[in-house]
Amino acid sequence: MGSEPMLIEPKDQLKEKLKEVFGYGQFRGNQEAIIKNILKGKNTFVIMPTGAGKSLCYQLPAVMLEGTAIVISPLIALMKNQVDQLNALGVNAQFLNSTLSKSEINRVKKETLEGKVKLLYVAPESLTKPENIRFLKESKLIFAAIDEAHCISEWGHDFRPEYRKIKSILEQLGQLPIIALTATATPKVKLDIQRNLQMEDADVFKSSFNRENLYYEVRSKKAIKKQLIKFIKAHHGKSGIVYCLSRKTVQEIAEFLRVNDIKAAPYHAGLDSAIRIKNQDDFLNEEIHVIVATIAFGMGIDKPDVRFVVHYDTPKSLEGYYQETGRAGRDGLEGNCLMFYSYNDIIKLEKFNKDKPVTERENAKLLLEEMASYAESAVCRRKQLLHYFGEVYDDPYCSETKWCDNCRHPKEQFEGKEYILTALNTVLQTEERFGIKHITHVITGVNSQYVQSYKHFDLPVFGSGKSKSQEFWNSVLRQSMLLGFLKKDIEQVGVVKLTKKGRTFLQEPHALQLSKDHDYVSEEEPNITDEAVTTRSYDEALFELLKSLRKRIAKQKGLPPYVIFQDPSLEEMAIVYPTTREELSQINGVGRGKVNKFGQPFIDAIKNYVVENDITTASDVVIKSAVNKSKNKIHIIQQIDRKVDLEEIAESKNMKMEELLGEIEQICYSGTKLNLDYYVEQIMDHDRQDELYDYFLNAESDSITKALEELEEDDFSEEELRLMRIKFLSEYAN
Ligand code: ADP
Ligand code: ZN
Repeated sequence: MGSEPMLIEPKDQLKEKLKEVFGYGQFRGNQEAIIKNILKGKNTFVIMPTGAGKSLCYQLPAVMLEGTAIVISPLIALMKNQVDQLNALGVNAQFLNSTLSKSEINRVKKETLEGKVKLLYVAPESLTKPENIRFLKESKLIFAAIDEAHCISEWGHDFRPEYRKIKSILEQLGQLPIIALTATATPKVKLDIQRNLQMEDADVFKSSFNRENLYYEVRSKKAIKKQLIKFIKAHHGKSGIVYCLSRKTVQEIAEFLRVNDIKAAPYHAGLDSAIRIKNQDDFLNEEIHVIVATIAFGMGIDKPDVRFVVHYDTPKSLEGYYQETGRAGRDGLEGNCLMFYSYNDIIKLEKFNKDKPVTERENAKLLLEEMASYAESAVCRRKQLLHYFGEVYDDPYCSETKWCDNCRHPKEQFEGKEYILTALNTVLQTEERFGIKHITHVITGVNSQYVQSYKHFDLPVFGSGKSKSQEFWNSVLRQSMLLGFLKKDIEQVGVVKLTKKGRTFLQEPHALQLSKDHDYVSEEEPNITDEAVTTRSYDEALFELLKSLRKRIAKQKGLPPYVIFQDPSLEEMAIVYPTTREELSQINGVGRGKVNKFGQPFIDAIKNYVVENDITTASDVVIKSAVNKSKNKIHIIQQIDRKVDLEEIAESKNMKMEELLGEIEQICYSGTKLNLDYYVEQIMDHDRQDELYDYFLNAESDSITKALEELEEDDFSEEELRLMRIKFLSEYAN
């Protein structure tokens, strides 16, 4: 395939910087458009889910432009973290907050005035100090980035009064462009932020909230402790968070895990702050693997390699749940989100609210109802979550890759046309003025207070669905929303209305499948061994070796390990075996700065490993021949890990099936194990598989032409043969 024409592209400065400084080959999502906007000096509003890569949006322009960018960030821990990471990349970033000594402050100020500092992180409290304002006025500033901008809004989940003063202070510093960033998507918060910062004119970049790498799962709370231990042991040695609602449960579960030989520690606001900080640091430094915590834990933790988030208790709202699960897999690799659900938890939570004022209590109740419906529904989790945040999710990704429990184990379906018609008609007949609960009451003929006062017992639909339970109708109504027939009213909380699509459906109804809800009370205990965990195709021994090397170096330097290199980079190293600085710098996530600072010991370790294990091919074939090709291969390996169908991989890479098989063969011949069972299962029955397996086991050569000849009678296709040869080689030769 060396005959591809070389395209001479104009030099792309942004991409070059991205690779040189941050080590990444590609921008993610909106990053490039956002950065261009910032470089033009425009006010910019960035809404992206956690882990999508907000920081890069202001870090890269700051590196490219002359002068200093101020970054306003609410948490000191978060600031330190980012500054550490930037310094590790070789970028001059500093922070100004209450933890610095007088002389440190003077040094930071001096370097800033000399124009050396690219990014200056400031806490809002420090920003308001007159001496700091004076100093900032003298500095050459390029823009102000306001991280976690939802802190401005009382409607966000983390209001901070100091944030409201930011605008007036920035005004004193001249006409600085403002970049506001947040992971909170609700329209109310967005409006608040824009008003407060007087940036209604800003260009808004809102990304999808889909997190493709996260696997969502809900299980019943039956035998929960046994399930928890099995789950954590299946993710042995990986970092994870277990969220509990009360401090007492946090203590109890942390202790329980420790007794079961899991390195765990508790975290909640009631602990002594020294212990809290120690436990958090131990988690970041991988001295402990699992942190058991109340929701107080997590804000400001951007550990990129949290591999699982467990909700031991059912959370209070889907907003909170989504934020918390968002802390898994920020680096784009594996992230398992497991929630334990029991209706008793919902009842308990409702009781906690009983002393609250009426509206607050009503709102909290609605949030809990959403939570319960989410947990009990058998519709794709991703679809439900994104719908909740106002996104229509019609991508077949989740059902094809089976990346949530409901897509992986679909529940029974039933014909839903008549039921949906009943539901929609009821909404119509009650004049689109009620919530789901009342509508189910009308359908099932419950004589509630509302039914009485609105005389809804006179309606034709009243009681027309009483052969089914209220839960059943609740599920039909929820699914009608997901299908876009009904929508929530924005002004009146809880009220549902018909959409245009719903009205069309009433006029021209058609057959439609609905899913039966889960019934966790009678459902069997889940099959615990059936995890989302997949086997990996990188060299696991080398990966582990590099991980421990990283931990050692991190300890020496007093940094969290992921500041040195992140997991995806280590994985890639364990696929392509870089043994020179040049090769190392080709790894995704490794820029020039990191090669210089941390590269050598890694190169040495890989060199040794390669010699000891006689692996020369991989490095030769994959890296030296073609750098771009190696990216392709890595993509293929990752997709196969995720059990994506080969047709789909081929399509996404614009390849023919033959070409894809060729690439896979090369990967395999250069020593990487691939598990194609999931695909082979689909296209061949076991007898045929066995026959081919036997053939390769006994054949003198692995030539496909020969095999085609010898097995002529059985009518195997070339594709089948090649696939089985790959499977065979992966299992035996590698
Ligand atoms: P957020 O602030 O949106 O939660 P971060 O800025 O912490 O997310 O980024 C999340 C992770 O994504 C980090 O580990 C970061 O290094 C990585 N990342 C950011 N941009 C890219 C990119 N273009 N390619 C690969 N990884 C990236
Ligand atoms: Zn799904």
